[in-house]
Amino acid sequence: MNNKHSGYCALCLEYKDKLTFEHIPPRSSGNNSRAKIYKGQELIGCNKLPWDFSEMHYENAQQGAGKYSLCKKCNNKTGRWYGAAYSQFAQQIKETFETSFLHLIQTGEINIQNIYPLQVIKQIFSMFCSANPPTNDHINYKPVVYPFSTQILTSPIQKLILAQYNLVNAEYWIDDLRKAVLDKERTGLNYGRFKICMYFTLSPLLKINGISESLNLNHHEPVSVSEIVTYPVGFLLILNPNNAISYPGIDITHWADYAYTDCTSISLPLCVYPVNSWIPMDFRRKDEIQKCLNTNAPDSKKF
Ligand SMILES: [Zn+2]
Repeated sequence: MNNKHSGYCALCLEYKDKLTFEHIPPRSSGNNSRAKIYKGQELIGCNKLPWDFSEMHYENAQQGAGKYSLCKKCNNKTGRWYGAAYSQFAQQIKETFETSFLHLIQTGEINIQNIYPLQVIKQIFSMFCSANPPTNDHINYKPVVYPFSTQILTSPIQKLILAQYNLVNAEYWIDDLRKAVLDKERTGLNYGRFKICMYFTLSPLLKINGISESLNLNHHEPVSVSEIVTYPVGFLLILNPNNAISYPGIDITHWADYAYTDCTSISLPLCVYPVNSWIPMDFRRKDEIQKCLNTNAPDSKKF
């Protein structure tokens, strides 16, 4: 019988009458109390600042933030394999922020002890799989072949076609991440296909954005990106990255090369971005967003 949580598991792709709730981030990292879930699309076209959620519809998620996206088996398995390592990682950053943020600003970096990089990045992959679940015809889907050599991306039209091609094939390519998550010892990744960047944020806003086309503001290039933000960190999954340009955040893709039991300490630059809107890769401060809206709005709608 169909119910509202039936569908394909975002990891093993099996159809289930009842999918289980995946906590994003894992429940053990503090995501265990009631959360309000808003649909960002509702903000499109309405005359509101992106952090103004008043009078908007929301879903009351009693168990915390996340999605009904995984079958019970996959949910238990990933929780057991990666959950504790991710929670320890996020918790440590949270505590360091709360106890010594001024010191971090002075040194410009944060040191994270006893981290299991492969386990942490696989938890991040798993969250991106849930953010980009398979559609109903996933199993029969054939990837579209790109019509040009990727070496000749000179015109804006070609760049847009490439962006569209990324978008159409994204769901299929993400199967590589699904396989990596379901094989706990597997290391490495198709680095031409995926880049994972991480940044820090003080924003309490939680974002789970599937793949969309965004603009890399540094280079005015379209970027195919999925984004997950959950205090104190944000992650970007970039498809078919262009290695000639830089992306926001710290590139942590190589954490996929560690072995499952490798445990180490890592120093990361203190790359902190504001997050004030549901738009992917939007790192503007509130006053910058407000200024931009006012510049483009007719007089009657200025804030
Ligand atoms: Zn499953």
